This record gives sequence, structure tokens and C-alpha cells, in this order.
Amino acid sequence: MDAFWEIKTLKELSQSEWEQLCDGCAKCCLHKLEDEDTGDIYTTNVVCQYLDSEQCQCSHYSQRSVLVPECVTLTPDNLEQIYFMPASCAYRRLAEHKPLPSWHPLLTGDKGSVHTAGQSVQGKVISELDADDLIHHLTGEWD
Ligand code: SF4
Ligand code: SF4
Repeated sequence: MDAFWEIKTLKELSQSEWEQLCDGCAKCCLHKLEDEDTGDIYTTNVVCQYLDSEQCQCSHYSQRSVLVPECVTLTPDNLEQIYFMPASCAYRRLAEHKPLPSWHPLLTGDKGSVHTAGQSVQGKVISELDADDLIHHLTGEWD
């Protein structure tokens, strides 16, 4: 496969190429908290109720924007939202002119490599339906 992500800009990608960039980490489905004074964003171990956290897949993908209005659906037309993605997110990395991480499925040829590299939320999170106040679930800064 051509390394299309190295020769095209994000806006030049086909729909299929765009979808392939997603590594399946599901970090974008984590709840985050913002420090109102500093604007710093902190992440938690709490995920959206619609995430299948074992498969790291949205269980209501086609309805996600309706069910969860704050769910960010990245497209080539809203790249300004890209900086709300985690630092490991392939879209953000390419927007910042960084290479894909070595564990990315496009480089390994294995969709599971994001999990074996410990870069997904698999096995590390709880559903928002089971969580109490998010302040009790902070895990670190969202850089
Ligand atoms: S953070 Fe980026 S790469 Fe990971 S699941 Fe979300 S959109 Fe895909
Ligand atoms: S609706 Fe789906 S894609 Fe959006 S945050 Fe929830 S689980 Fe993730």
C-alpha cells in the first residue's frame, strides 16, 4: 500500500483513506475536564456510554452525533477541532507534521497493534453509567 498519509494532506485524502487513519484507540471517547482558570484539559478513565470498551468501537456509530452532541466527528472540513484530539491521534499528528507512531495499524498491518502497544483505552476504562463525579476519575493531563 502506498503511504498515502505521507504524500497527501489531510484535506486531499479520500473518504476511505481518511477512515483508515483512525487507529481505533477510542481515546476521543474519554470524558475530559477543563481547568477554568488555566484552560488546561485533563482526561479521566470514564468513557461515553456508547463505547464498547472491549472492542474499542462505538456501538451507535451512525447515530453518534444525535445521541451525543458533544461527540467530535472529525472531517477534513473541521480540522480546527483536531487539537481537541489526544496527542497520539493520527489526524492530529499529521496536522502537526509528525509521523504516524510505530504501532499504528497502517504501519503494522494489524488492527490490534494499537491495543498490544497499550495505546488504546481497552481494559482501562469504565462507562459513564458506572462512574461517580468525574473529578474522582482524573488520570492526567491531555496534551
Ligand atoms: S483519538 Fe483519533 S485515532 Fe484515536 S479513535 Fe479517536 S479519532 Fe481515531
Ligand atoms: S458516541 Fe460513540 S464515537 Fe461518540 S464519544 Fe460516544 S462512543 Fe465515542
